[in-house]
Amino acid sequence: MNCRRAERRLLRRHDERLSPAEEARLGLHLRSCPKCREAESEYRLLFGALSSPQDSRPEPMFWQRLEAAIAESERENGWASVRRWCRRAVPAALAVTAALLAVLLLFSPAPRTELSSSESLLLSNDNPLEETRTLLEEKRVEDRNMMLIFASSGDSTWPR
Ligand SMILES: [Zn+2]
Repeated sequence: MNCRRAERRLLRRHDERLSPAEEARLGLHLRSCPKCREAESEYRLLFGALSSPQDSRPEPMFWQRLEAAIAESERENGWASVRRWCRRAVPAALAVTAALLAVLLLFSPAPRTELSSSESLLLSNDNPLEETRTLLEEKRVEDRNMMLIFASSGDSTWPR
């Protein structure tokens, strides 16, 4: 049975003009065709509204199902928008965090590094830390001057 004939039979069934065989074939089609099931419920609503008030009340489950379906679709839309928002927001948040970290790393004061670099600039770039400390702790001015001269010349064989 195709959908067109099924629909005609739906109309005829309302007038109770269907043979049991036709009814059975229509039922078979309705089970396999959601489109015609939808049409059937629409017809039922339509004819129900047209007929007497006693008969016109749609099955209570219909409205409950309809409300549930609407709520379901709204919930799905809500989750979809949340997921969409997350897909946009998470990379943005990561980018902002990375930018902040980069700024912190670039502009954070590093006094120890600056001090040691200025120390080595002042004395000699080639001096190991041990010799630098020896120079600073040297009490005798003459020796310190001598050591400075040797250190700046890059001579690391100065006896200690
Ligand atoms: Zn159909």
